[in-house]
Amino acid sequence: MFKIQDYIRDIKDFPREGIVYKDITPLLQDPAATRKSLEAFLSFLEGEKIDKVVGIESRGFFFATLLAQELNAGFVPVRKPGKLPYKTHQESYSLEYGKDILEVHCDAIEKGERILIHDDVLATGGTAAAACKLVEKLGGEIVQCNFLMELDFLKGKEKISAYKVVSLISY
Ligand code: AMP
Repeated sequence: MFKIQDYIRDIKDFPREGIVYKDITPLLQDPAATRKSLEAFLSFLEGEKIDKVVGIESRGFFFATLLAQELNAGFVPVRKPGKLPYKTHQESYSLEYGKDILEVHCDAIEKGERILIHDDVLATGGTAAAACKLVEKLGGEIVQCNFLMELDFLKGKEKISAYKVVSLISY
């Protein structure tokens, strides 16, 4: 039986000591596993009209673009500062040590558009919460936030509890 977990590789102490990095490249290398994961995401979106899929840099881009095509929606990248060439809106968020910033093009979403937000991993939730704020700054209506996996013990869901959250697997 197909199990997404079989395609996620744990890399201990990457990018630094104490972190177990969830490597999704084995999943992406397998077209059947990628297709099954895509279908699993779509099963949670039946009947929902989505105008734009927002993918969070960088591992959120892979499934966000696939989902956008399947949903006949546009794809919008949310990126680290200095990567987007046009005018942007910014949102800063806290990390374990310090702060980081996410940006989106200011014309990427129109008021009232129905938005799906996607990333590979929901950990503490800071990244996803910042992406949600950016979408709302532009007037988008967040229909769902979805993730390949959620690290339950970090309680990221609490930071985005105002939205419907779907994760295909939990650790
Ligand atoms: P957070 O803001 O703490 O929810 O972190 C989520 C972001 O960091 C996502 O964009 C993930 O790609 C990345 N991330 C956090 N923890 C991990 C992990 N253990 N393995 C792989 N990526 C991670």
